[in-house]
Amino acid sequence: MSHSTAALTEADRLMTICNSCRYCEGLCAVFPAMEMQRAFSDGDLNHLANLCHGCGACYHDCQFAPPHEFAVNLPQSLARVRSKSYGHYAWPAAARPIFDKHGLALALGCTVFFALFLLGFIAAHAPGVIWSAHLEAGRFYALMPHGAMVAVFGAAFLWMLVAVFMGARAFWKDCGARDLGAGDHLRASHDAARLTYLDGGGMGCFNEDDAPTDRRRMWHHLVFYGFLLCLASTSLATLYHYGFDAKAPYAWWQLPPLLGIAGGIGLVIGCLGLLRAKAARLGALKAQEFRGMEYGFIAILLLTGASGLALRAAGHTPALGSLLALHLGAVLTFFLTLPYGKFVHGLYRYLALARYARDRRHGGGTS
Ligand code: SF4
Ligand code: SF4
Repeated sequence: MSHSTAALTEADRLMTICNSCRYCEGLCAVFPAMEMQRAFSDGDLNHLANLCHGCGACYHDCQFAPPHEFAVNLPQSLARVRSKSYGHYAWPAAARPIFDKHGLALALGCTVFFALFLLGFIAAHAPGVIWSAHLEAGRFYALMPHGAMVAVFGAAFLWMLVAVFMGARAFWKDCGARDLGAGDHLRASHDAARLTYLDGGGMGCFNEDDAPTDRRRMWHHLVFYGFLLCLASTSLATLYHYGFDAKAPYAWWQLPPLLGIAGGIGLVIGCLGLLRAKAARLGALKAQEFRGMEYGFIAILLLTGASGLALRAAGHTPALGSLLALHLGAVLTFFLTLPYGKFVHGLYRYLALARYARDRRHGGGTS
């Protein structure tokens, strides 16, 4: 079968070898899913690539890995296909190439740009209180009116939702199956929430020192649940504002700040752990050309979490205006870049797991 990119052609070659060998079938979901297929379309390969967690176990176990002439390096090949899939399905098409190589520079550049822009807005809107707003009740809105915040961030959030939905729809059209049942979603939710297949069949992920560890799963969990707690905090604050007429900022012991602080700590520790895990990762497993996108994704999550915690800790000082601008700049960058970076991997992996659950129920293959 011919494919649209060299990365997909290489993945197809490796799938054909692995499908004959099958030595690794107990390691993760990729191998049993592969065994249900005889031939692989572009969509099938993107599905398999998004099932892979890149733990490296199959590279370590493979008798056909380089320097063998078959040169089987499945984690790297699937990482390449997976990373390309984020751009391939992104919406609108014009935004696709942005994040491949320049993700880190873009994340940091946009955060600084938006933070300076918002600082300028604050200076123009509230020149008299920019260094003293921390003394006022309802101090965030002394710097930036609530209506302006809702307009800017509501529009960015809606854009993000539409773009992510369109990307996921394109992915599903190409890689999915029509007859998903509730049980398939339950199974996929369970496996996604537990990161069931991230541990290389129980050993953990492989690193430079050849000693597998399970820490990567822990860092992923801290980031994922930290993000969900931050989302819960913002949603609850919105309910307080509109439902109970209680305006931010809230006392530290109230639920929105407690959830936000716990989520921010999870994001910061998880992101630092992921950066460390990336540095320790075996070089042969990496798809180096996408490292800008990978680091950009972690950097923007780290900045969002750290600036939110700093705002909480120093919001009663004259630094309030600058910290608010930095935090809002990071959040705005996060919303606008999310559909074009690695963040979508969580959603695509969920969809790949749902198809895997469905294929197992049907005994293999799409229809
Ligand atoms: S990765 Fe290597 S050992 Fe594992 S199934 Fe493929 S060819 Fe066989
Ligand atoms: S999840 Fe691990 S074992 Fe499975 S294909 Fe990916 S790298 Fe190989």
